Amino acid sequence: MEVFYCLRLWTKLLLHRFVLLNAFCKECGREVHDFIAPNDVWARVEPLIGRGKVLCYDCFCKKCWEAGIYTTWRLVSE
Ligand SMILES: [Zn+2]
Repeated sequence: MEVFYCLRLWTKLLLHRFVLLNAFCKECGREVHDFIAPNDVWARVEPLIGRGKVLCYDCFCKKCWEAGIYTTWRLVSE
């Protein structure tokens, strides 16, 4: 993990103890937007996710690669 991401994450984890923050990625600290992962993909990726279970889209895609899911995702509205 890059130093900047690490510092951002630690800062947000510390602030989260004292103030209400928007949801943030537990890997890199970036604020997250809601997205839905297919159940079969989530089942394979979830064991690779550490603390919190909240990831931004980029970090989720990295976990997909770690899980052996090599694909490009399509953004569609619900
Ligand atoms: Zn992230």
